[in-house]
Amino acid sequence: MLPILFALVGVLAGIVVNRAADNLPPPPRRSLQETPRCPYCDAPRTRTEQFGILSFALRRDRCHQCGAPLRLRAPRVEITCALAFALLASRFAFDAYLVAVCFFTAVLLLIVVIDIEHKLILNVVSIPCTLLALLVAPIILGGTGTNFETIRWNLILFALLGAAVGYAITYAIYLLGIIFLRVVNRGRTHKITTVAFGLGDVKLAGLLGALVGFPQIIYVLIYAILLGGVGALVAILLQLLRKRGLALGMAIPYGPYLALAAWAFIILRPPM
Ligand SMILES: [Zn+2]
Repeated sequence: MLPILFALVGVLAGIVVNRAADNLPPPPRRSLQETPRCPYCDAPRTRTEQFGILSFALRRDRCHQCGAPLRLRAPRVEITCALAFALLASRFAFDAYLVAVCFFTAVLLLIVVIDIEHKLILNVVSIPCTLLALLVAPIILGGTGTNFETIRWNLILFALLGAAVGYAITYAIYLLGIIFLRVVNRGRTHKITTVAFGLGDVKLAGLLGALVGFPQIIYVLIYAILLGGVGALVAILLQLLRKRGLALGMAIPYGPYLALAAWAFIILRPPM
């Protein structure tokens, strides 16, 4: 019963994630209270249009004003969120841990959607959520079954250390990327401008460090880099198969891999 209930909550969370992914990225950044607008004609979305699964089920998958097709992103996000919440509810009993993990699952999903669509990880998402992750670290790091009698406040220290190490390692990789660009771009006419890790990834790594703690954040970063490498290889093979030629210097968007590695880690690891 609990997984079905959580799947429904997941759909609702997916609607909120879609709204945030429509409103938050600039330009212009809108508040969450504002109704999202059609990117083509700027008409405010109707209520049905804001519910991805519903609008596609009712076959009202076009903007009511200009007829531009609604993107598949909305139902995909709702379904992903519903499946993730159901999986979590089938794995963990109903308590503060389950609620916290579901909340941060939706946050990570939002970060991934905005990163894929805009190649951005927004401070307005990553920084407040890092602070919140530090505050609820005794629940998230303590694992399922944590309650007021068993709560260990010292886990905040592990989360702080995890966030600091996450920042430090990815910032070092970011700096190395900048130095690498300076070296390879010397005398080049077509300059390469993308680095492996952007500053958004650095802030995401801080959030993930707060969520998984230290030393776990080190494993998460290693898994994310491996996953990113596998993903890049698959992308290159697909390009070769389509005979499109290779885009050298193609950037790997690390955000989704970082988020995926951390999420897998959160639901699979034993409590600290
Ligand atoms: Zn429109």
